[in-house]
Amino acid sequence: MKKIKMLKISQYNNAFQFQSNLIYCWLFRKLKGGQAQKNGYNCGNINCKICTRKINQEKDLPSKLKTFLLKGDNIKIISSGNPVELIKLYDDFEKIKFNKNDKKKYRDFFIKGYERWFQPNYGKQFLDLLNIDTCIYCNRNYTINLVKDRARAELDHWFPKERFPLLALSFYNLVPSCHSCNHIKGSPNIDWKNALNDYIHPYNNKSNENFKFTFFYDDTLDILKVETNAKKGSNIERTINANKILEIYNSHSENELRDLYNLVYKYSDNYIKILIDDTFDEKLNLSKEEIYRVVFGIETIEENYHKRPFSKFKHDIIEELKNIK
Ligand SMILES: [Zn+2]
Ligand SMILES: [Zn+2]
Repeated sequence: MKKIKMLKISQYNNAFQFQSNLIYCWLFRKLKGGQAQKNGYNCGNINCKICTRKINQEKDLPSKLKTFLLKGDNIKIISSGNPVELIKLYDDFEKIKFNKNDKKKYRDFFIKGYERWFQPNYGKQFLDLLNIDTCIYCNRNYTINLVKDRARAELDHWFPKERFPLLALSFYNLVPSCHSCNHIKGSPNIDWKNALNDYIHPYNNKSNENFKFTFFYDDTLDILKVETNAKKGSNIERTINANKILEIYNSHSENELRDLYNLVYKYSDNYIKILIDDTFDEKLNLSKEEIYRVVFGIETIEENYHKRPFSKFKHDIIEELKNIK
């Protein structure tokens, strides 16, 4: 439910192809049935995970839903449309008046389609293709959860699926996250219709939308506080707030910050600098990436931050501390 892009999802073409093809064929199959049916659907791809299997027509779908889905490119948009196209489609969809019974049917169709069909059968495969190891929102926890001894991909719906069931399976609405971020309660009342103007969508890679972690030390109380350099009133700041990033980092990561801080201030020399520049670089001749991996357990290239928890946070703080005399 929360909207920060702490990390970038930069290469997602394989996951995109997989998911959009899967959902495209699944929807057509559910609406029209397979080849046994008159006018049944088959995409003709002999590797299709849907069309080569026995997936039955959903006979009980509200006719207004069927009409809407089969109109123009709507199924294509649901399966592969970008976030702007998705929310525009939803505007259209909301103009349809469903009675209570039909509303329940279409909600169930999409939400159960996600929870009972997609997630157990394809969630893990989707996440493997996406190849994102830690939460896009917080970079603190892994995106795989063990549920009843089964590895389960934690996927957040950027447009919440309870409110936007139609988008429960759409590629651009599935965001690899951690269990904790996926279940943040009490996020601010986000105006979802305009959310793309106010918050940063994780699949949007504009380079000017960035921030750095920094810190504040209160020497009278000996308290270290995690802060960011996000500009007041910016989309970044709103996104950080909605995801409760500072709350999370301040309540759980003070030790990490303290350890790094001590390396600089506890001794007469800046040991971060000594470790990096004098010890590992000069004596062992390691690359910068190797040094940070060995010494601090993090990745330093932005595209790789997701591989190890805390990479963004620690890298930002270390870069700041390294230059302190
Ligand atoms: Zn197919
Ligand atoms: Zn998270």
